[in-house]
Amino acid sequence: MFLRIDRWQTELPPPSTPDPAGAATVQELMGGKFGEMSTLMNYTFQSFNYRFKQGTRPFYDLIANIAAEEFGHIELVAATINTMLTGVDISDVDGEAYKHHYNFGGKGALPADSHGLPWNGTYVHSSGDLVEDLTHNYFLETGARSGKLRVYEMCDHPAARALTGYLLVRGGVHQVAYARALEKLTGADMSKLFPSPRIPTAKIPECQPHIEAGEHLKLYRFSPEDYREIVAVFNGAHPETGEELQVVDHPPEGFPPQDLPPEPDVFAPDYAPDEIAEIAQKLRKAAGLPDKVTGIVADGGNGGVVSKVKDKLT
Ligand code: MN
Ligand code: MN
Repeated sequence: MFLRIDRWQTELPPPSTPDPAGAATVQELMGGKFGEMSTLMNYTFQSFNYRFKQGTRPFYDLIANIAAEEFGHIELVAATINTMLTGVDISDVDGEAYKHHYNFGGKGALPADSHGLPWNGTYVHSSGDLVEDLTHNYFLETGARSGKLRVYEMCDHPAARALTGYLLVRGGVHQVAYARALEKLTGADMSKLFPSPRIPTAKIPECQPHIEAGEHLKLYRFSPEDYREIVAVFNGAHPETGEELQVVDHPPEGFPPQDLPPEPDVFAPDYAPDEIAEIAQKLRKAAGLPDKVTGIVADGGNGGVVSKVKDKLT
């Protein structure tokens, strides 16, 4: 089963200048062949289909645990797209190639690539053969990093840069994890393949804070009690830097999400968001919830619509 924590794995900036074309480009990192939906669903299906767990536990734990981290990555890609779409005026999008963000979605991310093609189950490779699947996963992480570098170059929006800076570092950890698994299973020297693509992340400014924090060395354990055997595979020296790899025995602390404002021109969450906020406030009161909204968001306050309505009610 899955638990959920309402925090982002990395910090993303609040909305600034809208960037509809950039948001369409970032969709490739969501629903493209090498996007986060693909990494998520590949490792999810491989872990669902995994046989002989008790005999080969460290490899199962590795794949299942990385799948959980990928769930948080699709959330970050969606958050980035939504941030870039915040403030877009729909009367201005006539020349934009990607109209589904407005005529189908409410300025929200879609499970599709940068051309609007829906994510596709044929992107999942779950053969049941462990060496085959791990080799595929190494290749998938490599393609995913190429895609992130290209999106980084194509988009200078601060949210896109923050996203790709973080995901390049985390994708590097997953590459190392699958490489280490293949080395331990077959004896192959995978370290010679690094870095791939051949651009060291240390040269990318948006990667640097994460590298300084050691995020390129850490594999988090995304479970209260399980997947403890990842330590048997994820260990030794990082193939690029020689630093010691480490398993962190808990999920990352994460960051509070940005609370993106309503977009009434696409009815998100309504043409009159204040009305829904008013209903919500009455329901909260009737349920005996505290006056102060319990959820935590990045701007700290319970600002915006909710506090306006609360003022009106009290
Ligand atoms: Mn990922
Ligand atoms: Mn990954």
